[in-house]
Amino acid sequence: MDTLKHKDLPFWESLPLTSKKHPDEQSVINVGGVQIGGPELVFIAGPCSIESIEQIRTVARAVKGHAHILRGGAFKPRTSPYSFQGLAEEGLAMLQAAAAEVGMPTVSEVVSPEDVDLVAAYVDMLQIGARNMQNYALLRKVRQCQKPMLLKRGPAATIEEWLLSAEYIMSAGNPKVVLCERGIRTFETLTRNTLDISAVPIIKHLSHLPIIIDPSHAAGRWNLVEPLALAAVAAGADGLMIEVHPHPEDALSDGPQSLLPERYCRLVESARELRLLLEGRGLHA
Ligand code: PEP
Ligand code: MN
Repeated sequence: MDTLKHKDLPFWESLPLTSKKHPDEQSVINVGGVQIGGPELVFIAGPCSIESIEQIRTVARAVKGHAHILRGGAFKPRTSPYSFQGLAEEGLAMLQAAAAEVGMPTVSEVVSPEDVDLVAAYVDMLQIGARNMQNYALLRKVRQCQKPMLLKRGPAATIEEWLLSAEYIMSAGNPKVVLCERGIRTFETLTRNTLDISAVPIIKHLSHLPIIIDPSHAAGRWNLVEPLALAAVAAGADGLMIEVHPHPEDALSDGPQSLLPERYCRLVESARELRLLLEGRGLHA
């Protein structure tokens, strides 16, 4: 097995924990029994925000069998202070109850250091949102927690800065980091963000950490989610996180980019078929 050469890895010295030591090194992160970074493509699905027990229960039942992990936001980082801010602990309890009924682990975002222990008490994985990727007070707090972390890339962060945020968490003894590319800010206005698909092969080359793609926040529009999701699978992503809502037109957040459950389930089948096809050709196996 070849050892990676120093010249193959820019900023090698600044990334002692996230960089690969040899080309085949790949971390597998266990989230409530689901392995992210292993041979199986992992699907995380659920609404942007948890709105009611009926809503999260409907989504959980509809995606069961087509998703490994249930997502839902209870602390929402909204651009406007007048937008729905989430149900906080009440929402976390709803997510936990709905996921327990279908036997799925959960992920939810934490936005402030004082809520880390509360969120960790309810979920299997904590999400650090794009806006908080460089919130060092939050990173310093979550690294004391032993739960896996889903670290989203900041909308204006370079890949080096993103990996340095992962180093923040890992350097205090929590190695369980999964990276999530969700689109970066560019001059394009027809999409909410621009999905940086090249982040997948670059991370696969530089780092042993698993990488998943969130096409929903990249696209901002439901009809772009499927092509971006399939592109992510083709590029070699370890998984996908997709927003699903039973009534997108009534959603309290991110309705325009949310998929109906049936459409989401069809997407998962296409993604699995594509992955099998690529594996048959010796890619991403
Ligand atoms: C989310 O996942 O609901 C979210 C707010 O994502 P991001 O931090 O990528 O905007
Ligand atoms: Mn959202």
